[in-house]
Amino acid sequence: MSDQPVALYQLGDQGAAVSSLRLLLQASGDLAPSSVGDGDVYDEEVARAVRAFQQRRGLIVDGVLGRQTHVALMGSRWKLGDRLLTHIPGHMLQGDDVAELQERLLALGFAPDRVDGVFGPHTEHAVRRFQVGVGLAVDGSVGPETLRAFADLSRSVSGGSPHSLRERELIRRSGHRLIGRIVVLDPGHGGDDTGISAHGLIESEINLDLARRIEGRLSAIGVTVLFTRSATTGPEELARAMMANQAGADIMLSLHCDSTDQSRASGVATFFYGLDRFGAWSAVGEELANLIQREIVARTGLTDCRSHARAWVLLQRTQMPTVRIEAGYLSHQEDAARLGDPAFLDTLAEAIVIALQRMYLGEDDTNATGVLRLSDLRAYNTKQRATSE
Ligand SMILES: [Zn+2]
Repeated sequence: MSDQPVALYQLGDQGAAVSSLRLLLQASGDLAPSSVGDGDVYDEEVARAVRAFQQRRGLIVDGVLGRQTHVALMGSRWKLGDRLLTHIPGHMLQGDDVAELQERLLALGFAPDRVDGVFGPHTEHAVRRFQVGVGLAVDGSVGPETLRAFADLSRSVSGGSPHSLRERELIRRSGHRLIGRIVVLDPGHGGDDTGISAHGLIESEINLDLARRIEGRLSAIGVTVLFTRSATTGPEELARAMMANQAGADIMLSLHCDSTDQSRASGVATFFYGLDRFGAWSAVGEELANLIQREIVARTGLTDCRSHARAWVLLQRTQMPTVRIEAGYLSHQEDAARLGDPAFLDTLAEAIVIALQRMYLGEDDTNATGVLRLSDLRAYNTKQRATSE
């Protein structure tokens, strides 16, 4: 479910900050320029504009001004060249201008880590390499000189997003085996935050139970598995992302269950990093999300709620392909009954592990969805090991 932090402002609130929020929403094109409303009242019109902005940006669409929406909205006023861009450790600049910079660096072959609109160490490093490349003073900051160099060098890139191509290339070059890889499993919630409770089940516990079942299967085929939390801890989303980055993980899987007020909603959905506006898109994340989605649907018969691009913190701030799985609705009686069954969790775990392996098999994979078994994979991996050593 939604991990949007506590609301800063929402429908019905009043305050001077709402007037400036209106201005920001007008500037972003989500609120009509003529709109004045009640000025400092967070009315239905403001909430609608916030929802429109969230929709466009792949954020959680709730019409509430939470922290993530606030940061994105504040960042949307900047265009490349409006301000000096530089890496400030501990207080990284964020905004559309940073995303534009990252796009240009990518287009010119100086890859920052990804287009996420955050000026971190990777972006600084890419700026430095760019500056070396074009013979500028190397300071890792983007001021007038560097901007001029961009303007001179701009060229269009065709044939797909360079970021997607690079990500695919990394997977291709890294070979076809899962053995020796690092997979970070992120059981959602934890500690005081138990997630959803419904039909006698607690989400944080199911997430952890499922993670352990996946861990067992991955360890058995030689994968190193790390957890973002224990049974008693519940770190922030950003801390989880940083942990996976520091571990140098190849893949991160975040495990959740969903719920809604409508008890009829049911099924499985997967999410990967994507943000339309800048063409930032984790192609491998999408591929893995699709594979996981298909294997789970084929093996469990859960309703197919498809895979979707989102800019949630965990997806955005991880440097490796990350997929979030919402494995059924605890608010749905049948889904809940299945999630309470250990054999069903085993089937889910198996589906997820097979999907992971299929991603690495790539073009060698000729098996139909839902038919590969772990024992087949073990045999395949042994054969691969024999031929490569
Ligand atoms: Zn959750």
